[in-house]
Amino acid sequence: MRNLKIDPRRLWDEIHETGKIGATAKGGVKRLTLSDEDRRVRDWFRMRAEKLGCTVTVDGVGNMFALKAGKNPNRLPIAMGSHLDTQPTGGKFDGILGVHAGIEVLQTLADNDIQTDAPLLVINWTNEEGSRFSPAVMGSGAFVGAFSQAEVLAKTDRDGVSFGSALDSIGYRGAQPLGAMKMAAYFELHIEQGPYLEAENKDVGVVTLVQGIRWFNGQCVGMDAHAGATPMHRRADALLGVARLADRLEAIALAHAPHAVATMGVIDVKEASINVVPGLVHFTIDLRDPSDHVLDAMEAEIQKALAEIGARSGVTLTINRFWNAAPLPFDPVCVDAVRQAAAKSGFTTRDCTSGASHDAAYMQNIVPSAMIFVPSKDGLSHNELEYSSLEDCGAGAQVLLDAVLLMDEAGH
Ligand SMILES: [Zn+2]
Repeated sequence: MRNLKIDPRRLWDEIHETGKIGATAKGGVKRLTLSDEDRRVRDWFRMRAEKLGCTVTVDGVGNMFALKAGKNPNRLPIAMGSHLDTQPTGGKFDGILGVHAGIEVLQTLADNDIQTDAPLLVINWTNEEGSRFSPAVMGSGAFVGAFSQAEVLAKTDRDGVSFGSALDSIGYRGAQPLGAMKMAAYFELHIEQGPYLEAENKDVGVVTLVQGIRWFNGQCVGMDAHAGATPMHRRADALLGVARLADRLEAIALAHAPHAVATMGVIDVKEASINVVPGLVHFTIDLRDPSDHVLDAMEAEIQKALAEIGARSGVTLTINRFWNAAPLPFDPVCVDAVRQAAAKSGFTTRDCTSGASHDAAYMQNIVPSAMIFVPSKDGLSHNELEYSSLEDCGAGAQVLLDAVLLMDEAGH
C-alpha cells in the first residue's frame, strides 16, 4: 500500500472554518437541516469539492455527491461521507468530521498527484439529525428506499414549513433521482459519541455492527380517584405502576450487561391534576443491544414485569412494539479494510458497536459499508462541548484514506 499521510492540521483548520457557520457562544454549532446555515455549509462543500476537480450532483432530497474521476471509468466509486447538519446545541464534530475527512482524503491524493483506479465519492447526507424534520437519518434513508421522496418532501417542521419548500428556499433540490448514484463501498468516519475509546485509551474504533433497537408505546390503566378521600389500599394508581416499571427496566438492562440499555423517555399522565390519583398514563420504552437474543430476553422479562406489577398495583399495563430494527453487521471486507488500515499506521483499536443510528447503517442495506470511530471527550455529543482532538481526528482520517486505498487496490 502507498505511504500517504493526510494533514491533520489542515483537516482541523477546515473543521473550524465551517464551524463558524452557525457558531454558538459556547463553542458549538447550530446548523439545522435546510436552514440558511445549512445552505452556507453546503455552498462551502460544493466549492471545496469543485476546487478538487469533483463533479457535484444533488438528488431530490438534497443529498450531495462530490465525484472525483478514477482511471477506470468502468468501476463504481468508493464512497466516504457523513452529514453537515447539527442539533440545535450541536458540536463541531458530529457528522462534520466524516465529510471533512473525505475532502482531506481527496486533497491528500491531489497533493501527491495520485489518481485512484476507482472513482471516489464524498457524500453530504441531508437531515441526519432529525431535530427540525423528524425522523432522523432521513436523507440516506430515502436514498436506500426506506422512505419515498414524496414522504420526505411532505414532512413539516414545528412552524409548519415543509421539507420540500425549505429545500427549495436554500436551492438544494437536485435533479438526480434517489438511489441513482451507484457505489462499490461506503466508509463513514464519525466521533464515537460514547465513552469506550477514551476510557480504554484507544486511537480508533473499528465498528463491526449497529446495535438493534426496539421501540414500544405503553399504557397503564388504573382508576382516577380523589387524592384525599381514597385510602392507599383502595387505589389503582397508574403512575405508580409506571414508576415501578421504570425501576424494573433498569434492573432488566443491568442483568444483560455490558451492552443492553433500556430507557423510558416519555411518561404522560392523562388529565394530570395535583389532587387526583392518576388513572391513565402513557409511556415509551427504548431497548437497545447488539444481539437479537438479548433483546428477545429483555422483551420477555418486561412482559413478565408488566403482569407482576399490574397484579401488585391493581393496574393493567400493556406495551405495543412499533419499531424493530434488527442488529446490523457491517460488511466484513470493509470492516477488515478499516482494521488493516489502522494496523498500518500502528493505531491501537477496539471493536465497537454503534449505539446511535448513522447514515452508514442505512447504506449497509444496499452497499458494503463500514464505520470508523474516534474518541469523544467524556463521551459527549449533541452538546456544544463535544470534542475530539486534532490527533484523534487526524488518525480517523488517515484510516479512512488507507481503507479507501486498500479497497481501490483490491479492485472492489
Ligand atoms: Zn452524526
